[in-house]
Amino acid sequence: MSTLPETLIEHTRQLLFHPQPQDFETLPGYLLRVADLNCLQHPQELLDFLEQKAETIYRAPLTPQLGVYSLGTLAQQLKQPLEKIVAMAWPLDIRVGKHRRFLYQGLIWPLELLRHDYRAWCPYCLSERSMHRADWDWHLSTCCHKHQTILLDRCPACFKRVSWHYASLHRCSCGFPLHTAQSIPVEKHYDSIEICTLTTTEIQRYITLALLILKTPSGGISTKSLSEITPEELNLKIGQISIQSLRDHESFYKAIDFHLEERYRNEPTLGPRYATAPLAQGLKIDTNFDQELIDITNRWLARDKVISEIHIQTESPQSQKNLTIEVAGYILNVSHYILHRLIKKKVLVSVSESGCSANTARPSRKDLFVSGKSLSQLQHFLAQKNPATQGQSVSFDHYGIDFSTRLNLLNDLLESKVTVVAYNPCIGLPSLQLMVPIKQVENSNFLSVREAAKILKIYPDAIYRVAKSGLLPYSSHLVRQIIIDVEDLGKFHQDFIFTREIADRLNCTATNLADKIISAGINPVHGPSIDGGLLYVFRRQEVETLDLVAVSQSRYQSRCGRGHKRQLASQVPNLLLPSDACKFLSIKPHQLDRLCQFGFLTPIRKPSVGLSYLDKTELEEYLASYKNNNMFIRIDDIKLKMRISTTLWNDLVNLERVRSITDGIVRYVYKDQLAEAIKYRSTIFSTKQLSEATGLCKAIIRWEAKYGCLADIVIRTGNGSPKLFFPRSAVAKLRKQRNHLSNATKKS
Ligand SMILES: [Zn+2]
Ligand SMILES: [Zn+2]
Repeated sequence: MSTLPETLIEHTRQLLFHPQPQDFETLPGYLLRVADLNCLQHPQELLDFLEQKAETIYRAPLTPQLGVYSLGTLAQQLKQPLEKIVAMAWPLDIRVGKHRRFLYQGLIWPLELLRHDYRAWCPYCLSERSMHRADWDWHLSTCCHKHQTILLDRCPACFKRVSWHYASLHRCSCGFPLHTAQSIPVEKHYDSIEICTLTTTEIQRYITLALLILKTPSGGISTKSLSEITPEELNLKIGQISIQSLRDHESFYKAIDFHLEERYRNEPTLGPRYATAPLAQGLKIDTNFDQELIDITNRWLARDKVISEIHIQTESPQSQKNLTIEVAGYILNVSHYILHRLIKKKVLVSVSESGCSANTARPSRKDLFVSGKSLSQLQHFLAQKNPATQGQSVSFDHYGIDFSTRLNLLNDLLESKVTVVAYNPCIGLPSLQLMVPIKQVENSNFLSVREAAKILKIYPDAIYRVAKSGLLPYSSHLVRQIIIDVEDLGKFHQDFIFTREIADRLNCTATNLADKIISAGINPVHGPSIDGGLLYVFRRQEVETLDLVAVSQSRYQSRCGRGHKRQLASQVPNLLLPSDACKFLSIKPHQLDRLCQFGFLTPIRKPSVGLSYLDKTELEEYLASYKNNNMFIRIDDIKLKMRISTTLWNDLVNLERVRSITDGIVRYVYKDQLAEAIKYRSTIFSTKQLSEATGLCKAIIRWEAKYGCLADIVIRTGNGSPKLFFPRSAVAKLRKQRNHLSNATKKS
C-alpha cells in the first residue's frame, strides 16, 4: 500500500464530510456511514464517486462486502491515516468462487463465515448509534446482547436481503427504514459473545463448538452449515455456548467432551470415531488449532475405549445418515482409495446426493456418500468378538489393508464366515484381527496336496512335482491349488515308489539309497536329474525285483564330490572332461563352448551322470586341420611376422585375392594363396602409384578412369569409397593420351 504523491491528490475526488471510524466498525460499515453523511444514496455510489475500480478483472476486492481496491487513495480521500483503513479492511484472496477466504487478524478464514453479500442488523442499535457493527457480519452473531433481540437479516417490507451495495445505512433499497423494523426478542438470556472482542483462538473455539452442535447431515464439519439457517434458529442452538468455554482452556475441553459424548450417544452404531470425525478434519484455518483438536480427539478416544465397546454391541437402531467419503474413511481409519474399494466390493454401500443407491448409476465421486446403515452394519459385525476360535489369524495393520484378499475377508465377515479376534473401534480397521477357518476340500473323493502327502508320508512339494510331471493325475482347485482323486493316488502308489518308502521298509536312511538303486541298474522315472522332481521315484515293479538289502549295503558311485567324475573320465582314456579339453587345446572354457556350438567339436553326453565329455581324437583332428596345419598362416601373424602393412593387407582383401578360414577362434589364410596375391599386387598400380609413375595428378587419373582412356582397364574395389587399381599398361596409355592432347593444343 503506497500513499499517493502530492500532485495526484489534487485530481482525486474529495468528500464534504470525513467522519472518524468508530470502534467495532469494519471498512464497509464505515463506508456505509460516510455515504449516508455525504448524502449519497448507497455505498456503491460512494465508491463510484471515489473512483474505486479494479485495474484487472482478476483483482480481488479488499473487503468481502464492497468493491474497494485501493486503500491508499481511500485513506487520502477520507482524510484518515492509512493504518486505520488497512486495519478495517478484510481482503479477499480471490475475486470469485465458492472457496474464497479472507484475511482477518493474521489468519485466513473461509468466506462462508461472513454475511458478505447482505446485511444483518439490530434495529435499536441502528437508531441509537447510526452505525453498522462489525459483529453483525459474522454468521456466528445471532443476536444483539445489549438489546436482547435477534439480528434481522431480511427486509420486513420486501422480504429481500438488504444489499451492501445498493441500500443506505438506514433504508433498504425498497425504501423501508431498517431501524423501525419489528424486533424479535431472544428466548433465553445467554452470555454476550461479541466476536470483534475475541481472539482468533477464541473465534475458532466458537466455530468448533457451534459446528459440533449443528451436526451436519454428512457427519463432517462444514462452515457452510452456519449460513444455511436463520439467525433465530442458530441462536436457539448455539446460544448456550458460554464465553467461559471460549476463554478458558479447560472449559473448552470440557465442552468438547460433552458434545463428543452427545454425538456418540446419538449415533452409537457408527462407533466412537464418528463422534470425533469433525474434530479430526479440523477447521483448516490455523494448523496449531487443528493440531489441538486432534490431541483432544485422541485423548477422548483413549479415555472412551471401554464405553465404546459396550455401545457398539447394543442393538441400537442402525444409522440413517449418509456419510461423506472423508468421514467414513476416518471412521474406519483407511484411505479414500481403500474406502472406494470397499464400496466396489459391496462391503459398504454408496449413496448419491439424492439419496438413492448409486452402485449402478456411477455418479461423480464428489456427490458420493457412504450409507451410514451399511457402515453401522459393518461395525456391528466387527464388534462380535470371539477370540477363542481356531484357524489362521489375519491382522489388518496399516500396510496390509490394501490386499484384495484381505478386503474380501470383510465380505466373509458380513456372511459370518470368519470371526473377529480383535477390533478396536477407536483405532479402526488397522486394529482388526480376523480368524479364518482352514478350508477343507468339500468333495471327500478329492485330496489336497497336503493330505495326499500325509498319506504317502512324503513332503507336499514332492507330491506337487510328481503331479506336475504327469505321473499323478490332478485337477485344479481355486487359485494355484490342485486336488488329487483318491483313486488316482491309489493307482500311483501301486505303480510307483518313492525312495523314502524303500528306506522305511529297509529301516535305513533314504540318503544315497537312490544312488545305490541307480547303480544297481534301475533307472528312476522322476527325480532331480530327470525332470526337476524333488525326490526320486522308481517303478515299483522294477524295484521289487532287486535284492534291496544287498543293494542298500553295496558300495555305490556317489555323485557327490569331484573325484567321481575324474575317475570316470580317466577310466575311458579317449574321453576328456571339458576342463581338460580346454587345457589340451589351450583355450578358455567359453571358447570351448563356442566350438561345440558351431559344430567344430561334438561333446559326448553321458546321461547317467549328467555330464558331457570330449573325444580326444576329435580334438587332435581339430588341431591338425587348423592350428597345426602347415598350409595355413594366422592373419594376426601375417601382419606381425611377415611385416605386411595394413594397407597392403586391405588391398589384398579388397582385390578378393585372399580368403580367410576360421577355426572358430582365430582366422587363417592359405600360405600359397597369400604369396600369389602379393605377387599379383606388385603387377598393378594404385592411383597414387600411377600418379608417381606418370607425373600426372590423381584427379586427372581418376577422370581418365571414369570417362577417358583408362575406363576400360580400371579395376574397381571396395564398396563405400572405391579404390582404383590399374594394370601396368595404364602408364603407356596415359602418356599416349597426354602427348596427343599436347600436340593438339600446339597445333591450335
Ligand atoms: Zn442492539
Ligand atoms: Zn426492503
